Amino acid sequence: MRFFNTLTRQIDDFKPIDQNEVKIYTCGPTVYDFAHIGNFTAYVYWDLLVRTLQLNGYRVKRVMNLTDVGHLTSDSDEGQDKMEKSAKKQQKTVWQIAEFFTDDFLRHFRGLNCTEPVAIAKATDYIFEDLQMIKTLTEKGYAYTTTDGIYYDTSKFPRYADFGHLDLKGLEAGARVDFNAQKRHLSDFALWKFIAKHEDHAMQWPLPDDIKDLLDFTAINQKDLATDETGAILGYPGWHIECSCIIHSLLGETIDIHTGGIDHIPVHHTNEIAQSEAAFGKILANYWLHNNFITIDGAKISKSKGNILTFYDLEQKGYNYMDYRMWVLQGHFSSERNFSWENLAAAHQLLTKWRNFAALRWQVKSPNLIEGPVRLGQAARSAEHEMMVGDFTNPILEGVNNNLTSAQTIAKIDELMPKIYQNPNNPRSDEAACNGGLSASKALDFWQFIDDLLGLNLLNSTPNLQDEAYNLIKDREAARTSKNWQLSDQLRDQITETYGVVLRDTDDGTIWEYK
Ligand code: AMP
Ligand code: ZN
Repeated sequence: MRFFNTLTRQIDDFKPIDQNEVKIYTCGPTVYDFAHIGNFTAYVYWDLLVRTLQLNGYRVKRVMNLTDVGHLTSDSDEGQDKMEKSAKKQQKTVWQIAEFFTDDFLRHFRGLNCTEPVAIAKATDYIFEDLQMIKTLTEKGYAYTTTDGIYYDTSKFPRYADFGHLDLKGLEAGARVDFNAQKRHLSDFALWKFIAKHEDHAMQWPLPDDIKDLLDFTAINQKDLATDETGAILGYPGWHIECSCIIHSLLGETIDIHTGGIDHIPVHHTNEIAQSEAAFGKILANYWLHNNFITIDGAKISKSKGNILTFYDLEQKGYNYMDYRMWVLQGHFSSERNFSWENLAAAHQLLTKWRNFAALRWQVKSPNLIEGPVRLGQAARSAEHEMMVGDFTNPILEGVNNNLTSAQTIAKIDELMPKIYQNPNNPRSDEAACNGGLSASKALDFWQFIDDLLGLNLLNSTPNLQDEAYNLIKDREAARTSKNWQLSDQLRDQITETYGVVLRDTDDGTIWEYK
């Protein structure tokens, strides 16, 4: 497998640390508002990554976080906490806001059929670990205090600019003058924020004495800071520390793959690297995959443009999660992509076409239809004229292994589709394997492979018809043969209404398809 790796800015061959298990961390959402469809492209791309690794034989251990504290309206530690701001606006507690938008996010995440990570970790469950890491960084000389928090001194980490190819001098020169003047360098970032006495911040934790004692508070007027009944200074974690801590707690010191949005490169991921590598002295991740942004009708998605679309909007227009998933998979994680309703309609059409190919498996007559799966790659030719499932699936997997190029792979699958059954022009044929296609049981393995890879749920969404439906189809064929058109039409309409399928009369007989 090979991926475009932000760390090296090139496509690198993938070599896992442990041959048996690949460790992945995905930066998840800040749960303060409804996510829009653009936010979800990332989760589909990274799900394709997980599925591709699994089909290559790896066990995948993936962790994702949910940010429910500490993400300020500006990524440079200025402005309000997004969670607190949303809670005030909606007159709810921050905890209610977190719960509501976490549920909403996970409903869509699961609706999109994204493989469940082994852990979905909330930032607020890792406060103890955050403080421990801050202590380590303070002991190692990386932290200092300002009136509003504990900051990381980026000048102490010589490789700070490397990951994001940052021009720190240029940034300093162009900086706004009102920027937090107490910061030693523009790129320094908050590990922990203090709460000012007048500030209303519901999420708060005391700063333990053993950390406070390590820091210099001489220039800080502690009377202006909120404290608890024991006199401990109250505060909350900075945005970046949660990811470093969750990774360290659940996955260890060096992981294989870290994913996120391209907007995370210059600040969030740069800071994660600075914290983790300074604290633990190990590389944080060997491969970094970043997803690009989508636009809607050519415009950046933004509240002010009023062009935000959610899954509720898609649903209102009759589209479902799998239509959107197909649309995402027709793109590539590192390319910017434009969403339009026409493109979504095209993705829906393609999906319907594939579902009908999948539904043909019920109409290929074979006594061996439901037999155990053929192991991919181990399939040997059983007869000269019969194709094996690996003949179809191996080139598909090779395609996605090359930097997750699902768009090209989808085009390839679409080309192969009419060839997979033994006799594509006569799906009800009883003939033995011939014509370079797959026998019915192997066709089932093919569909299982496509579902495992792309997660489009083709098999589950195309169940067989009940016996009564088949009897009605036979009755209708009999009516057609005897040229009783009225009865034939009436039965066809009845079948469509009752079973939600349409009948198509082919030269070789009648087949049914999903609408
Ligand atoms: P936001 O809630 O706007 O801060 O977005 C959360 C994350 O979603 C960002 O950090 C981005 O990585 C990602 N994101 C935001 N907008 C888009 C978009 N239009 N397309 C793809 N990803 C996006
Ligand atoms: Zn993160």
